[in-house]
Amino acid sequence: MPQQLMISVSGVRGVIGEGLTPEVVLAFAQAYGTYCQGGRVVLGRDSRVSGPMLQHAVTAGLMAVGCEVVDIGIAPTPTTKIAVEKLHAAGGLVITASHNPVMWNGLKMLAGDGLFLDEEQGKQVLTIRDAGAANIRNWDGLGKTTAYDKAIDDHLAAIYALPFIDIEKIRQARFRVVADCVNGAGGVILKKLLEHFGCDFVILNNAPTGRFPHNPEPLPENLAELCEAVKKHRAHIGLALDPDADRLALISEKGVPLGEEYTLALAAALLLPKRKGKVVVNLSTSMVIDDIAAKHGCTVERTKVGEIHVAKHIRHVAAVIGGEGNGGVILPDVHLGRDAMVGVAMLLQQLADFGGPLSELHASLPQYVMRRRKVELAGGLDPKQVLQKIARKYQREKLDANDGIKILRDKSWVQVRASNTEPILRIMAEAQSAAVAEKYCEELAAVVEA
Ligand code: MG
Repeated sequence: MPQQLMISVSGVRGVIGEGLTPEVVLAFAQAYGTYCQGGRVVLGRDSRVSGPMLQHAVTAGLMAVGCEVVDIGIAPTPTTKIAVEKLHAAGGLVITASHNPVMWNGLKMLAGDGLFLDEEQGKQVLTIRDAGAANIRNWDGLGKTTAYDKAIDDHLAAIYALPFIDIEKIRQARFRVVADCVNGAGGVILKKLLEHFGCDFVILNNAPTGRFPHNPEPLPENLAELCEAVKKHRAHIGLALDPDADRLALISEKGVPLGEEYTLALAAALLLPKRKGKVVVNLSTSMVIDDIAAKHGCTVERTKVGEIHVAKHIRHVAAVIGGEGNGGVILPDVHLGRDAMVGVAMLLQQLADFGGPLSELHASLPQYVMRRRKVELAGGLDPKQVLQKIARKYQREKLDANDGIKILRDKSWVQVRASNTEPILRIMAEAQSAAVAEKYCEELAAVVEA
């Protein structure tokens, strides 16, 4: 499959004009609309330049199979998910390529409960698409389009209603905030939220034009402008969002990125003292969450990487919070999906309760360091065999084989997984010092290469 087009059970992602064309999304929309039995489908998009073009093709495809298309315009992915639930739709589509660079776009498919399609559901859509079995209607069976302009307000109302968010207390703190919305969909919601919480704020790249000023993934190496602005404006906090506003990264008042792992950690540190319960994260999420949960007498359960796995397990075990270490906070009170606005509200509350600077709040949490490495597989070597070999070699240690092989050691771990898209193995290690994490990566890279 060419790199320019990636089709999976969760949707499609590709480079505009190369792999991803109106024809591709039209066929997807017709198959998806057929899967939804011609019911109501909420359509949202991030701010990418190619968004309107794809929106027209997707709308045409959905109408052709009898769907009522509810257009909510530019909206964060979590906003679209909440609208699917609120409007009792049969499903929803989000036109986004999440954190991918500007030339990419894609389609994410949602089920009637506002969660991403799971593997089984996604396969049904692909089967219809591959068989060309879309239920194309005659002129008198076509769908219609309507617009709904309250999706952002519905989303914010759900956050303001959270029992552990004390709006007056946050307002009294009068936080100075600098944010970077990378000209993505976050620009249409973050300003309203910060105004409501009485913050004094500056938002960089706030126009939802889809022209990203830098690589839009909220990793420390992409946040130099934001870090400088936090210092310049003497802000209490810096916030970095990805283009569809489901991931959030934090910058301390010193202009230092805390690393995305600490977004979920801080949210859990706020919630668990107030509400005890299970926490669900994926296998690659930092163990700082285990320490925080243990401190409050709570347990952590881990799933395969992928938001849908985490979301479904949260529902299955009725967890109080969950998410992914990549800055994705999932609070089931609002919705079972990663949500940067939930993260912002919880951080402001946490900081208001703490009463000191964010760098000190961060320092009060357990500290871990992660390291990552890629190893290319020589000439057609089967990643499964390599993983089996690793499992045998480390059979005396504590292993988790739910997603690649994860070796669990004292206050540390190392995981080896096969990439879904490239002939490489990804090694990830976490420990209390960079030296140990490096050493683990080194050790496993040597095993893989041997
Ligand atoms: Mg995203």
